[in-house]
Amino acid sequence: MSTHHLNSQEDKPAASMPDPKRLIIATNNNGKLREFAKLFEPFGFEVISMRQAGFTDEIIEDGDTFEENAHIKARAVFEATGLPTIADDSGLEIDFLNGAPGIYSARYAGENATDKERCDKVLEEMYGVDRSLRDARFVCSIYFIYAEDDEYSVSGTVNGYIGEEPLGENGFGYDPIFMLNDDESMATIGEDEKNKISHRARAFEKLSDILKEKFN
Ligand code: IMP
Repeated sequence: MSTHHLNSQEDKPAASMPDPKRLIIATNNNGKLREFAKLFEPFGFEVISMRQAGFTDEIIEDGDTFEENAHIKARAVFEATGLPTIADDSGLEIDFLNGAPGIYSARYAGENATDKERCDKVLEEMYGVDRSLRDARFVCSIYFIYAEDDEYSVSGTVNGYIGEEPLGENGFGYDPIFMLNDDESMATIGEDEKNKISHRARAFEKLSDILKEKFN
């Protein structure tokens, strides 16, 4: 992993600094880790997972919103390690289902269900529902604790609607049933395109603006 430096402080003896540049991502998902590393490395952070930081406790995500759950995760890891921490929480909200699956997106069809089973459950619940009532959005909340009393919360959304059947092979999760327009679902557009328009991309943009202001 390459290390970039914020300023010329690297000439000081290491012992005089508590290594302020390590940043923990409260996930053990390598895909997420890579995405966050790419965002933070230009600002001089070495990005590590919570397992790499020695944090193995189970975190009970019992918040009522994506933001609360991201906050709970970030707080738990920050308090245990004292290091700057980032956590995210994301999912799908469907108006007709009063916002479900929402914060339960990952376990909507049971703990060990597949992506296909989750999509099928939603399609069943939306069966016969008129197009005008099928609006939905993906939401991503990111919570960044840099230090005590120095915390940031951002979120991004992308709007679409629930299709009548799965479309496309790309992406993951609910992408095949999330229509962007009559011809494209989140699983027909490629990864590059998704990384420009997704809820996560939009939350990342906002976080990036904060980092530029704070560290540049
Ligand atoms: P988490 O934020 O890793 O807990 O993800 C929550 C769940 O939301 C995932 O398991 C997916 O089912 C769903 N989800 C989150 N982001 C996406 C996405 O970009 N596409 C499709 N499904 C997503």
